[in-house]
Amino acid sequence: MQLPATGLDAEALFQKLETFRTHDIPWRTGRTFAYVYDAGREVEAVGKRAYGAFLTENAIDPTAFPSLLGFEGELVSIVASHLRGDEATVGSFTSGGTESILCAVKAARDRLRAERPHVARPELVLPITAHAAFHKAAHYLGLDVVQVDVDASFRAIPAAVEAAITERTAMIVGSAPSYAHGVVDPIPALGQVAKRRGVWLHVDACVGGWLLPFYRRLGEEVTDFDFSVEGVSSISLDLHKYAFCPKGASLVMYRDKALRRHQLFGCTDWTGYAVINPNVQSSRSGGSLAAAWAVLHHLGDQGYLELARQTLEGTKRLLAGVKAIPGLDLAVTPDFCMAAVTSRELSVFHLVDAMKARGWHVQPQLSYRNSPASVHLSLSPGNSAKIEGLLAALREAADELRGLPFGQLGAMVKGALQGGLLQAASGPEAFGQLLGMAGVQGTQLPERMAGIHEMLDALPRGLGRELLLEFVNDLYAPARQELAEV
Ligand SMILES: *Cc1c(COP(=O)(O)O)cnc(C)c1O
Repeated sequence: MQLPATGLDAEALFQKLETFRTHDIPWRTGRTFAYVYDAGREVEAVGKRAYGAFLTENAIDPTAFPSLLGFEGELVSIVASHLRGDEATVGSFTSGGTESILCAVKAARDRLRAERPHVARPELVLPITAHAAFHKAAHYLGLDVVQVDVDASFRAIPAAVEAAITERTAMIVGSAPSYAHGVVDPIPALGQVAKRRGVWLHVDACVGGWLLPFYRRLGEEVTDFDFSVEGVSSISLDLHKYAFCPKGASLVMYRDKALRRHQLFGCTDWTGYAVINPNVQSSRSGGSLAAAWAVLHHLGDQGYLELARQTLEGTKRLLAGVKAIPGLDLAVTPDFCMAAVTSRELSVFHLVDAMKARGWHVQPQLSYRNSPASVHLSLSPGNSAKIEGLLAALREAADELRGLPFGQLGAMVKGALQGGLLQAASGPEAFGQLLGMAGVQGTQLPERMAGIHEMLDALPRGLGRELLLEFVNDLYAPARQELAEV
C-alpha cells in the first residue's frame, strides 16, 4: 500500500473511522467483562475532553510545561495519601501497569547492584499469581525469575517466599489483588519477611489499589496493603483501570526518594539535549496526565465511593448467581470485583465461545500449577446493571454444554507429545500444523476459539508460548489491502 495521493477532508475521514469499529467488541452495551473499565458516558466524555486539551503538550521536559508537572505532582500527592503514605512518599506517572512495574524492578535491581556489586544475576521472587508484567521486566532488565507456589486460596505463602530469598534477591512481590483470582496476598506478613531479610517488597496494586480503600470505608474487610504496612518499599497503581481514567495512566509509588532515585535515567554523553527521564518514555503526550487529573477531580471522593458501592453490590449478586448455576463454580471467593469461574463438568473454553455466541464477552484463563482453567470476569459500574442478563446467559450456556464431551483436542495434543510426535514441534512449520489442528488458517482465527485454548492448555507452557509468538509475529503484518468499510 501507499500513502493516498491526495488527502481526505476531515468529515469523510471521521465517517470512515466510525465504520472501522464495526467488528470491535461492543463494550458500550455493558456486555464486556474485560478490557474496558467503564464508569458511564459522562466520565468518558470528561476524560476525552481533557485528553484532547493537553494532547499536544510534551511531558518530556517538566520545566517547559509546568502544567504537566503540576498534574503529576497532584496525582502523586492524592495517591500517596490514598495509600496512607507520609511526607517522604514519592511517585512517578507512567503509561500503565507494565511500565510502573518495569520502573520498580529497575529501581530494585539498581539498588541491589549498588549494595552488592558482586551479584551478577539478580533475582525476582514471584508467587505464581504475580502478573506477567514482572516476567517481562525480568526479561527486559536481565533478572532471573524464581517462582513460588501459592496456597489453596491462591494467596502468596510468606514462608515459601522467605525460603526463596537469597543474597541475589532484588525484590519480592505481593498482589493487591491478583488479576486472575482477585484475591489480596497477606501483605503484612510479606512486609515482615521483607523487613527481617532486608529485601525490597513491591505491592502490585495495579488493578485494585484505587478502589480497595473505598471498599474498606464501605465496611468490607480489606487486608492492609499500602504504606501503612511496614516493609513495603513500592506500590504500582493503575488509574486507567478502576479509577476509570483513559488508558495511559498509572503510578509507581515509593516509600522515599532514596528508593526512587534508582529508577531515574540520565544521559549527557551525546551531541544533543540532556536526557533525564524518570520513567521509560521520553517524549510523551500531556493528554493522559490531564485526563487522569480531570477524571479524579470530576468524580471526587463521593463519586468514587458511589462507584465502589455499585461494583461491590454487583459483585455480590454475581458471585451468588454463579454459585447457583449447576456445573459452575468459583475458583475462590474474591476480595475485589473480579471473579474466576471454573467447572469440573464442562469446558470453560467452550463456555467462553457459547457466551460470545450470545453477545457476551468474557476472558479465558489457562490452568497453571494449582490454578484451574477459568473464565475471568471484571465487573465495572457500566455493567453492574447487566448482571442478571450475564447470569441468564451463563446458565443457558452451561445447560447447552453440560454432558457434551470436551478435551479431545487437548488429549490428542498430549498423546502426540507422549508419542514423541511433537518433539520436533518447533519452528514455523510445525507450529502451523499445530494451529491447523485447532482450526486456524494462516492468521484467520476461527469463530469458536475453544480448540485453540484447549490446545494451549494441554501444551507444555514453553511450547504454547512459542506457538503464540509465531502466530503474533504473522498477525502484525503490513496490510495488503485497505481497511474494509462496513
Ligand atoms: C493490569 C495489571 C497489570 C499490568 O498493567 P497494564 O496497564 O496492562 O500494563 C499488572 N498487574 C495487575 C495486577 C494488573 O491487573
